[in-house]
Amino acid sequence: MRYISTRGQAPVRDFAGVLLAGLAEDGGLYVPESFPTLTPHDLRALRGVAYPELAARVIHPFVGDCIGYEALLRLTRESYAHFNSPAVVPLVQLGTDIWAQELFHGPTLAFKDMAMQLLGRLFDHVLTKRDERVTIVGATSGDTGSAAIEAMAGRARVDIVILHPEGRTSEVQRRQMTTVHAPNLRNLAVDGTFDDCQDLVKAMFQDLPFRREMRLSAVNSINWARILGQIPYYVAAAVALGAPDRDIEFAVPTGNFGNVQAAYAARRMGVPIPRLIVASNRNDILARFLASNDMSVRAVEPSLSPSMDIQVSSNFERLLFEIQGRDPGLTAATMAEFRATGQMRVADAAWREAGAVFTGFRLGDDETLDAIRALYASAGYLADPHSIIGIEAARALVRPGVPMVAMATAHPAKFPDAIEAAIGSRPPLPVHLADLYERTELFTRVPASLAAIEDQVRATVLRNAA
Ligand SMILES: *Cc1c(COP(=O)(O)O)cnc(C)c1O
Repeated sequence: MRYISTRGQAPVRDFAGVLLAGLAEDGGLYVPESFPTLTPHDLRALRGVAYPELAARVIHPFVGDCIGYEALLRLTRESYAHFNSPAVVPLVQLGTDIWAQELFHGPTLAFKDMAMQLLGRLFDHVLTKRDERVTIVGATSGDTGSAAIEAMAGRARVDIVILHPEGRTSEVQRRQMTTVHAPNLRNLAVDGTFDDCQDLVKAMFQDLPFRREMRLSAVNSINWARILGQIPYYVAAAVALGAPDRDIEFAVPTGNFGNVQAAYAARRMGVPIPRLIVASNRNDILARFLASNDMSVRAVEPSLSPSMDIQVSSNFERLLFEIQGRDPGLTAATMAEFRATGQMRVADAAWREAGAVFTGFRLGDDETLDAIRALYASAGYLADPHSIIGIEAARALVRPGVPMVAMATAHPAKFPDAIEAAIGSRPPLPVHLADLYERTELFTRVPASLAAIEDQVRATVLRNAA
């Protein structure tokens, strides 16, 4: 399997090359040269298969010769062995033709564990074969940092340094990062905002001598392997609910367009998915684009679903590439104009191609709280403020006889303030995190200065190189 950049000016790479590169050198995103297919026969053969094995079978064609099937199966089994549900990604019926697929049974209680747990093991596997190490550096305002830390702490070939803005993450989120202790991990509490942290990480990647010396690498959702780790659960849900003999639709709470991109990949592989719902909070740039071919950036407004408070969805470029006929020159030009003007409009045919698959949906904060309360009262089901937006989208847009699966992306205990506002009480943390507030925190305070942060990264790397 070969991978090409959406902007056409970066080297063609194999899976291992794409995994380690993250972003392509031309600023584009890597996509598979063609999508492998799952025939109706293949889909029927996945019925009743345990999730880790199903995942290995779906993922293997994308990995090609880089990792053998047996080795990959070992990695998927290890990735999901510690999930808090025997099904890994259980389906819960919430109404006629309406289901939730719970993707939050991993160590940090959000769906990012699904891909990140696999990513950590893929890094170790590929780096061991090459006898190399990398240093993962990232900035976080919450979910991504803790999922990356859980996935990378203790890995043999990886050092990880995560920057968070001191005092500006929720306590659950901070403790999920700072109570993990491993020699290859350093948590930096930066005296600054999340934007400062992000700028510092960008500056570090632009310091090319430092970047090469430290072998910096990234694990944000522009990395194709993150998308890849999310395709199998769409296949699993579809097969469980009747594919290939029945159509299945999905409603996906969306921020960076990563999760719903994985659903699109499942469709391209041959899973019968006529329609995908892109569910947003008040930051509804994608819904506006789908409704009127107008992608214009507005200021990000904080909402009850912070992991969807995004205006520029970094993964949208992959869809843009597809709807513009896989034309890299046109994709690069459209993205350049979007960066320069904050606006994007595509040719009518391209926009209609997007609309043929994707439907937008938007839910404001007040409606979000009402919906959490109403679902809890009617069905006894407690959804977090991200998942409920998918569930409401499913209820609004379901068609008789076509199962609609809402992706439940976080555990309600991760957002206790919103839950308390909706139902008047705070949900307890699951058993494996019940003592989170008693665990020892370990982090290093640093000023928002590039030199200070680079010193910390170097110290972490040197400690483990010795
Ligand atoms: C990251 C995240 C999202 C958004 O997913 P994207 O892949 O960025 O679209 C939704 N819900 C939760 C809980 C998240 O952590």
